[in-house]
Amino acid sequence: MTAHLSSKTSNNAVSYINGRIYTIDPSRAWASGFIVSPDGLFTTIGTTEEVLSIAKSSSLVTVDLRNQFVMPGIHDAHMHVLYSGLALTSDANIGFDSTAANIAQKVKEGSCACKYAHAYGDWILANIFNNEGFPDMVADRKYLDEMFPDTPVAVRGAAAHSLLLNTEALKRAGYDIENEPDVQASRFMRRADGSLTGELSETAMNKAMIAFPDPALSHVKRALKHAIHIAHRAGVTSCQEASANTLMLHALQELDQEQTLKMDFSTHIVYAPEYVAGEKQETLIKLLDDAEQYKSKHVDTRFVKIILDGVPLPPLFTQCGLDENGKPDQSKVVVEDVAEAIAKYDERGMTVKAHCTGHGSTRMALDAIEDARKRNPGGPRHEIAHNSGVHDDEYARYKNLNVTAEMSPAMFFTHPLTASSGGLMDWDFVKMLNAGAHVTIGSDWGAAPDPSLFGAMAGIVQTVGGGSVERGGELVCRMLTINGAEAVGRENEVGSIEVGKKANFIVVDRDLSKGEFEGAEVLETYFEGDLVWERED
Ligand SMILES: [Zn+2]
Ligand SMILES: [Zn+2]
Repeated sequence: MTAHLSSKTSNNAVSYINGRIYTIDPSRAWASGFIVSPDGLFTTIGTTEEVLSIAKSSSLVTVDLRNQFVMPGIHDAHMHVLYSGLALTSDANIGFDSTAANIAQKVKEGSCACKYAHAYGDWILANIFNNEGFPDMVADRKYLDEMFPDTPVAVRGAAAHSLLLNTEALKRAGYDIENEPDVQASRFMRRADGSLTGELSETAMNKAMIAFPDPALSHVKRALKHAIHIAHRAGVTSCQEASANTLMLHALQELDQEQTLKMDFSTHIVYAPEYVAGEKQETLIKLLDDAEQYKSKHVDTRFVKIILDGVPLPPLFTQCGLDENGKPDQSKVVVEDVAEAIAKYDERGMTVKAHCTGHGSTRMALDAIEDARKRNPGGPRHEIAHNSGVHDDEYARYKNLNVTAEMSPAMFFTHPLTASSGGLMDWDFVKMLNAGAHVTIGSDWGAAPDPSLFGAMAGIVQTVGGGSVERGGELVCRMLTINGAEAVGRENEVGSIEVGKKANFIVVDRDLSKGEFEGAEVLETYFEGDLVWERED
């Protein structure tokens, strides 16, 4: 008998009973039990009685869900998983309130306090600087140089669209400190004499980000695992990585080969700009050409990322708006060949995610997608990321052009900065939904301690429901699950609790289908039937 022992035979299935299971399947919105096969698929969905009778006759292990709310795992449509994993484990954390007087000391203390030191050779990367803390809002390298005359230091800005480098870092990255020329959509802050202050934003960061030494691949894997663990805590079982590069795809490939990757990844490989990937465009294009060979069970590489403009946040305001003739402000356009790039990857059936935060960039990306659709009518679904600045004329185009409205960063939907932006930042869910757009939600996770979307959903659920929190709850639950699965073309595998789909589900401490997002917490996260996260009481 023992010779035939296997964990893959049907008696290894697990039955779950007594749940309040919100399936997202319109043909059966609620169930109270299900059975998960040894290979992690839902095989039966029904009532507790139905499940128990099968469980008894097949002697299955049974889990009592104790009347708790269960739903499919969350699909986060926009995460920077590698960046977050590295930042949380290997960067110096200096908080949000450093000043000219204390930033160097904070970097020094922070670099000793991070979990893993020396991940980037002798460079120190720190998070984050804030112009508010500096005289005249000028964050100058001189505040770092005295303590770090020979060590390259780079401090990231809040929105990940700016950096502060000390003099040694500028030199190592190859900047001409006295006479560095501007490039398209670059923003070099300069002293009165024209030399660099060390603060760089948008494409001015390209050389710096490329110069940061790559951590060893084993450390990249460690950082990814750390980030995935945190994402599980937020109930995420599937994500769109918004800045995939060569290093990350190698790490994901190894993790999946080792069968330790407990998350579905759709990897948006960066086409441009280089700073987002920390890698030269030459090798990024090669990676896009070779994307197929990095595909594995949990990694779908059929995705591209283009950052078309900056951010509508102070003090940058690098978003691309429209001029009085309705034309995009070309000075803010980061990727000038966006139309050619979208056409190229559209031909290959790859989904492009275009970061657009202004009326101009959004129009430009939709125009490019429209051109691609004319040339290749059966081409893939594309995405506009962010959608914080969408001109009224544009809403109807999302549905017509089969474009996903990927709404992010969720934490800004109802943020005070958004409210006080005078319309510059405005995530208009009502207009988007009324126009019939396919809507997904992204955290745009980039090093925050908690990427959970629930707090942000509490802020929009009533608006989304047209005044009804309950109606909003249903719609938001779909945006967080099946809509994400559809956006990445995997709606037959994940996104709802249905027979034949992967058993990715979460147990939550309240009923999200009724819009109860405020204070909601994930109690358990399951990936392909495995318990991958459990809240400790
Ligand atoms: Zn973005
Ligand atoms: Zn992003």
